[in-house]
Amino acid sequence: MGAGWQRSAPISDRRRTDAPRQQLSGAGLEPFTSLFEQANDIVILNDRDGRIVAANRVAREFGGYTAEDVQQGVHLRDVLPQPDCEAAMLLTQRALDGESIPEVYEREAVLHNGSRRLLELRSNVLRRPGQPPLLQTIGRDITEKREAEAFQASLLQVSQALLTAQSLDELGRVICEQASRVLSVDGAYLWLRQGEDLVGCAAAGRMAKTFIGLRRSVANSLIGQIYRSPDVLIVNDFPHSLYNPQVPHLAVQAMLAVPLRRTHPPVGVLVFTDNANPRGFTAALRARALIFGAQTTVAIESALAREREEEEGRISAALLHVTRAIRELRDADDVLREIGRSTRTELQCDWTLVTLRDPASGTMRVAATEGVAPEIADELRLIEFQPADSEELRGLLEHRSVEVHAPPAAAAPLYQRWEIGSFLAAPMISGNRLSGAIVVGLRVRRAAFSARERRIAEGIAAQAAAAVDNARLVEDLRRANDLKSEFLGTMSHELRTPLNAILGYAQLLRDGIMGPISAEQAQALDRVVANGYGLLDLINTTLDVNRLEAGRVIVHPAVFPLEQLLEELRNEFGLRVPANVTLTWPEHVDLPPLRTDHGKLKAVVRNLVDNALKFTPGGCVTVGVHASDERERVWLSVQDTGIGIPANAIPLIFEMFRQVDGTQSVARTGVGLGLYVVRRYVELLGGKITVTSQLGKGSTFTVDIPLDLGSR
Ligand code: ADP
Repeated sequence: MGAGWQRSAPISDRRRTDAPRQQLSGAGLEPFTSLFEQANDIVILNDRDGRIVAANRVAREFGGYTAEDVQQGVHLRDVLPQPDCEAAMLLTQRALDGESIPEVYEREAVLHNGSRRLLELRSNVLRRPGQPPLLQTIGRDITEKREAEAFQASLLQVSQALLTAQSLDELGRVICEQASRVLSVDGAYLWLRQGEDLVGCAAAGRMAKTFIGLRRSVANSLIGQIYRSPDVLIVNDFPHSLYNPQVPHLAVQAMLAVPLRRTHPPVGVLVFTDNANPRGFTAALRARALIFGAQTTVAIESALAREREEEEGRISAALLHVTRAIRELRDADDVLREIGRSTRTELQCDWTLVTLRDPASGTMRVAATEGVAPEIADELRLIEFQPADSEELRGLLEHRSVEVHAPPAAAAPLYQRWEIGSFLAAPMISGNRLSGAIVVGLRVRRAAFSARERRIAEGIAAQAAAAVDNARLVEDLRRANDLKSEFLGTMSHELRTPLNAILGYAQLLRDGIMGPISAEQAQALDRVVANGYGLLDLINTTLDVNRLEAGRVIVHPAVFPLEQLLEELRNEFGLRVPANVTLTWPEHVDLPPLRTDHGKLKAVVRNLVDNALKFTPGGCVTVGVHASDERERVWLSVQDTGIGIPANAIPLIFEMFRQVDGTQSVARTGVGLGLYVVRRYVELLGGKITVTSQLGKGSTFTVDIPLDLGSR
């Protein structure tokens, strides 16, 4: 492998010159040699001077010597490189002198053909009477075992390196670098599959730079063929006919390609090249390359999965961003504009169009533009088109995204004027019908949009379809609501006119102006009048609510003293206070004039006093006024000693149609709109309303408003 072992000088020549025939120490060895001749391990005997006096068959074959060579005399220095030979001589002397030696040790051996092997050795002393002792050494070739161990260790390092790689790019680099090291090849090239192509992703070796970014089709290219082949491919004599200057890594002598496959289809191919080793790739290297390939496949697959996950994350984040942006918007035009804006930001394209399709005619037209010059935007908005008529856009009708990179011949000048290079149109689908499209455009033409761009555009289009549907729905609801308000408004007016007439006549009758009436008749007429006013109240409140809901209530600030307003109310309530309730108004109000809406403030206080009287079967109702020290705010309170409000009902009573359970037995009138109107009016006057209450003891409603509406 690699540079290979250097061939040493012809050993047999050296041996013949510096090793004189000397067989003395080997004399009388037959009983031993005949025994170890049969052994499966290497066995040699050497004397104190390092002469090999006997070597068994395995040893001779291993070293490449004949029995005759051995007989003629082979020395340790012929079979061991210098440092190993010196160590062997030392060990021989120590052992023969009776000193201790290691039980097992390793030495490198130089074979007759010059190559080197690693041996694991054990030695012991062979003593014969009357003869000098000899060292007997038994050995085993552990070259492969060691290499395998080294390979294992490197694999371990590789897997650690693979685990720590942060990105697919880095992983590719690590794989190629480690592969060159572990397999001692001079180049490693990683092709990964992307769609229908194999793409040069990482490389180590002299052609690395030109390799990155190469793209070859899986279906018809040489590397595609290698990728599709089920097995490792070794080409040790690369045919010149296959040389292609565009694929520089193939300009090699020897190539080994491992498909990176765990499941089908493989994720890519790892190609190793070796120009330095004249023997090319061996079976042993093939096996290692296979193991290496398996290990890297797992790493690449998990890196791809991680990358996919991150990509998904990025796509979701982009979509979430768009959803957030459009969620709050109710107005259809705002929604369309925002969709255009966020699409452009998320996809970093030059311009976007949001087109809508008329459900009846099926024609599409541009409803919002982003990143388009105003004069072009105006032109675009005027255009109506039928996707069915356009070859490029027909796919939208089948709910597919379409890409256009070259204009249809007839439209080329338009494309140029509108600065359309490439565009991607993603369908908006609502209820299984094409409702529009999001068009993502670039000024400069490009080959294709990436899978990620398509996914985001399609995601946004799906959101856009829903958002536009919602906005339309809200619009419809608003229109329906307006109709309802209009209806209620007219109806209340129509009711009020006859009711006022009824009340007027009933009061005339009751007051005896139209002739004398009996006490019984007077009582009945009292009830008619009271209920009539109840009904009028209800109609007025309904009108108020209706106006509030329609946003048609306008504040009319005016300057007036608060005392005047309280005086008016005091007169109004004079007759309506039940016999068993005392209603007290503030005696003296020491305040500068207010500047606020007189009518609304009066309605607020009237309503609170009305409620207090209604929910106080017997006791007191007290109206109070306080001002802040700076005389900027005024607090108007209405306190009663009535039935009180349970704590859990307090947050609810200011909502529409909310009444406290059980209060109906106390007050038979009312529908739960009064406090809602009060709260909304107080808010319009720049203030707030609070309430404290104790069940069975009474309640206090406090209105806190600025004295001057303009200074709030
Ligand atoms: P309603 O038309 O029923 O009076 P309001 O909105 O004015 O409607 O009041 C809502 C509910 O709040 C009432 O039904 C009643 O249960 C409770 N409420 C309001 N004012 C008082 C009060 N002064 N004392 C006790 N409960 C009250």
